[in-house]
Amino acid sequence: MSEDCLFCKIAAGEIQAKEVYRDDQVVAFEDINPQAPFHFLIVPLKHIRTTLDLTTADDDLIGHIYQVAGKIAHDLDFSEDGFRVVNNCNEGAGQSVWHLHFHLLGGRDLTWPPG
Ligand code: 5GP
Repeated sequence: MSEDCLFCKIAAGEIQAKEVYRDDQVVAFEDINPQAPFHFLIVPLKHIRTTLDLTTADDDLIGHIYQVAGKIAHDLDFSEDGFRVVNNCNEGAGQSVWHLHFHLLGGRDLTWPPG
């Protein structure tokens, strides 16, 4: 855990979030400022700052995150209509929380390219 990290505190249960999934590697919760009817953040319990800080030791974790994304979309019944998994890396791409996370968006038509 990294001190003063918002998502570490949510992962540790020190700050409340509307959780939809948790296991021994990740937690997923509702985004506080949703951009779609379904908008969750899938966050590793382990503190990793950005995508650029991943190592080969995290390969299984990233695979697991994508499996969790599909499971949430399936279980909450928005997988068939389509969903998107997005990671913003660094400020220029919109990263604002410095703990790796993947946005899971669904429940509306999602345009491409993103802004
Ligand atoms: P980023 O901009 O880093 O890709 O995504 C960070 C996301 O975290 C944003 O979509 C933002 O709305 C969300 N967020 C920021 N603070 C909180 C919070 O305290 N609780 C929750 N649930 N989401 C947050």
